[in-house]
Amino acid sequence: MHSRPARATSLLLDSDEVSPVFEQNAGSRSPFLLTSDHFGRLIPNRLGNLGLPASELGRHIAFDIGIAGVAKRLSSLLGAHLIAQHYSRLVIDCNRPPDVASSIPPSSDGTAIPGNAGIAHEAGETRRREIFDPYHRHITAVIDRRLREAVPTVLVALHSFTPVYDGVVRPWHIGTLYHRDTTLPPLLLSALRAEGDLVVGDNEPYAVSDQTDYTIPLHGEMRGLINSGIEIRQDLIGDQAGQRQWADRLARILREIEETLRKQAVI
Ligand SMILES: [Zn+2]
Repeated sequence: MHSRPARATSLLLDSDEVSPVFEQNAGSRSPFLLTSDHFGRLIPNRLGNLGLPASELGRHIAFDIGIAGVAKRLSSLLGAHLIAQHYSRLVIDCNRPPDVASSIPPSSDGTAIPGNAGIAHEAGETRRREIFDPYHRHITAVIDRRLREAVPTVLVALHSFTPVYDGVVRPWHIGTLYHRDTTLPPLLLSALRAEGDLVVGDNEPYAVSDQTDYTIPLHGEMRGLINSGIEIRQDLIGDQAGQRQWADRLARILREIEETLRKQAVI
């Protein structure tokens, strides 16, 4: 007898596979709500390795290298709620609208993904139903609860980026990624620039848009939350020491920003 109930309707995740949602400090009243769409690199057993060798599955195309360590430590330091996603972005990208081609990418940064080539519509819907939807539904529910309980919410979406993409070198150490919010991104930019030792990207290495992003448009902008994305170059957070250093730095900066926001009475 299994001690855990099987997912009766599951066509993708076996009953012994982890839920897509990882969280830490649930119920926190810190204003910061941290998300990490590309936190994990798991692939459901039923999808094998998507036809890729381990060397490809260890690259940035599969997950945001280093961000899990930064996100967990930052969440601990701030006492902030972190909601993250366990499965690889190659299975389904939780930061893409599910109707765009890059949601289940047939190729990524020059690598063809055999397990995604010509995927049937129903198979794509199954990935959405079992991975993408539960993750985003959970973020929605958490924001609903915070609004109900009048807990102020500042959404910070955490990512890492590859130092070279499509042959182009990216010089930034860190970037703020935003679209419609005019509160948090300028505070973050000026705090990061004031550090003095950083090359800071202002909407670099890319800008947030409704076509290429999902978490900020849906949970930040449509809910009217103060929000920004933060992208850290992955080679800086490739080991524990780097993850610790960047989490410590960001915790200090975000605490200062929290004070500023409170003084401005926007949280
Ligand atoms: Zn990412």
